[in-house]
Parts: sequence; structure tokens; C-alpha cells
Amino acid sequence: MDLYTRGENAFLKAYGRYDVILEKGEGVYLYDTNGKKYLDFYSGIGVNSFGHNYRPYVEALQKQIETLTHVSNYFYTSQAIEAAEKVKAATKLSGVFFANSGAEAVEGALKLARKYYYLKHGKADSEIISFQHSFHGRTTGAVKLTGNLHYQEAFGPLIEGVHYATLNDLSSVEQLINEKTSAIIVEPLQGEGGLYPCHQDFMQGLRKLCDEHDICLILDEVQCGMGRTGTIMTYFQYGILPDIVCLAKGIGCGVPVGAFVANEKFAKAMQPGDHGSTYGGNPFVCMAVKTVFEIIEKENMIAHVQDISEYLIERLEEVVDEFDQVEGYRGLGLMQGLIFKSDVKPVVKALLDEGVIVVTAGENVLRMLPPFIIEKQHVDEFIEKLKKVLKSCQ
Ligand SMILES: *Cc1c(COP(=O)(O)O)cnc(C)c1O
Repeated sequence: MDLYTRGENAFLKAYGRYDVILEKGEGVYLYDTNGKKYLDFYSGIGVNSFGHNYRPYVEALQKQIETLTHVSNYFYTSQAIEAAEKVKAATKLSGVFFANSGAEAVEGALKLARKYYYLKHGKADSEIISFQHSFHGRTTGAVKLTGNLHYQEAFGPLIEGVHYATLNDLSSVEQLINEKTSAIIVEPLQGEGGLYPCHQDFMQGLRKLCDEHDICLILDEVQCGMGRTGTIMTYFQYGILPDIVCLAKGIGCGVPVGAFVANEKFAKAMQPGDHGSTYGGNPFVCMAVKTVFEIIEKENMIAHVQDISEYLIERLEEVVDEFDQVEGYRGLGLMQGLIFKSDVKPVVKALLDEGVIVVTAGENVLRMLPPFIIEKQHVDEFIEKLKKVLKSCQ
């Protein structure tokens, strides 16, 4: 039996997988079991910021795995402390909790916001405001925060008291605020929902509303954080700080780790026994987190993201001009979406055949999340193959 069929026989059918089995990666390229080469323009959904087999990262993890991989949170390790210090400094917030995924980071943030409300009101009846088209993960709490019924429908009853406002419409948020509102959760740049960025005045308005009503502003930077949009946290582009930020994807660059980070006000609400995770922040993943920050700093990765994304945008504009089926592009830094007039899946599939991996965002957005280490020649290769595909799809 071929490998793909064995996979189809062994797994629950939670995903519609491509008929390609990836075997190894080197730099910005992936190779399948037939030796076919693919330009990686999705980084395992915004995870592998340094591409594949990035030596300083690999060597740090090799060394760590031989020393200590897991001890549980009954103990500190130097790797966990150093990682937390890096996260704290980068976010300009106060206290870190390491989880294992984005959804878990969101769940933890939600619990902390609710705990703060509970300490203040003496009741556990708080409500949350989220946004239409948002995505916050697949666990039963995070999926309820996800403003897309499609992900929720079959799995109720889910958590209560979640209301959905319209992104970039402050009055839609104001209308939902009441004395029970404990948190507003928003992605500064919506990923899965179609690459919609928050407007500057909207984000600042949210910050103001949260301050006025003592509501916790949770920013979900699981996808847009860690340098992808051209600043280490996207919120620095808005001139605000959140009360809690959620991180995952690019924070570990390939090992399963997430984090939520709170400012001093909300950090105080966390008490021993409130939350926990057996794996969360073990020395192996924390070595990855620490190394990721070191590489970003040492290699000036963020400046490179800014430069190379400018070039990518230039070339995307050219595609928009040239092809009728493409309406425009939107995004920030190396998190860009090309907006199509119709279903984009056939384009994504044709690109895969051409040896380029991208993902979708919603029905009609082709989402690009290339590794930070791409150079002009990789952008050119991408655009050339994209144009070829678009010509054949016209
Ligand atoms: C991917 C993602 C999540 C969920 O992360 P998982 O690691 O898949 O649980 C949450 N929020 C945002 C914005 C994401 O992009």
C-alpha cells in the first residue's frame, strides 16, 4: 500500500490533505518523497520563520535534547527562565505563561480575564466580546470566540456570554459592552478570516474603551506576532499595549509552544492552582523560544522582513494590475493575502503542482506566510510561478 493510502487508513479525517508527502526541508524549500522541490511560501502556517534546517536553531535544540527535555512545572529551568525573560522584554508586559499551542494560549488568556473579573465582582458570570471572521483556535472555549459559525455548529453547548462585534466598527463594540463584559479579544491582523487588519483609530479606540470600562484587552497575535508583520509584536504599530497577548506559531518555529503574557494589573489575578500544563514551557521548547529571539535579534530578521515584504508587495501590485481575476492584496509585512474574485482553491492546487506551497484564508484569499529568510530571488520565483498559474486559470 502506498504511504498516502496508509495515512488515509490510519487517521481520523479531520483534514483534507494534499496527495503529497513531505520528507525534508532545507532553507526556503521543501522536498517530497519523490524528490520534488517546493518553494515554501506558507512556513507550516506561519510557524517556521527561519525556514528549514536553520543551523543555529537546530544545533541549540540538538544540544538541549541531550541535556534535559522535560521536568514539569514543579521546577524552574534556566531555559524556561531565559525564554520567559525574552518574551517579557519583547512584549513589554509583565508575566508569562507557557502553553503548548495557540488555542491553549487563548484559553489561558480567557481564564485570566475571567479570574480578574471574578476577584472584582465576586461572581463568575462575565461576558466576552469577539469579532466576526476572527479565528482563535479549535478547543471548546477558543472555538466559541472564533466568529465563524462553521467551526462551532456541531459542538455545542459551548461557553456562554460571547458576543461578536464588527471589525473596525467601534460603535458595534460599544453596543455590546455592559457591566458583565470582562474582555475584548481581537487579532490585530486577522489571519484565517481573510487578512483584515485593524485600523489605527479602531485599535486605539478599543484600548480606550477597555481602560474606561476596566475590560481586559486581549490581542491574539498567534499568527501575526513574533516579527511576521515587521515589528516583534504587531501592536507596536498601533502605539498601544494590550492587557494580555496570546502567542504561538512563530514563537517556537516548529516545536509546539504557545504563551499568554499579561500586564501587571492582570498578572496579579493569577494565583497558584488557577491554571497549569504538564508540558507547558518545558526546557526543550523553551530552548527553542530563547533561540528564536536570539536569532531574530542577531540576524536583524525584522529589518529584513520589512525590506523583503516591500519587494513582495511591489510584485503583488504587478500581479493585481496584470490579472483580472485578482482584485487586490492586503496584509502587513510577510503576512499577505491576494484577493481573488472567486474560489481560490484551484489556484492553490495548481501552485502546488508547480512546486509552490501557499494556503488560503476564507474562500477567496490566497495567503502568503513565507519564511523571514526569503530573498528577492525567491519572491521572483514565486511571482513567476503564480503568473504562469494565473495565465492557465484565466
Ligand atoms: C493558528 C491560530 C490559533 C490557534 O493556534 P493552534 O496552535 O492551532 O491552537 C489561534 N489564533 C490565531 C490568530 C491563529 O492564527
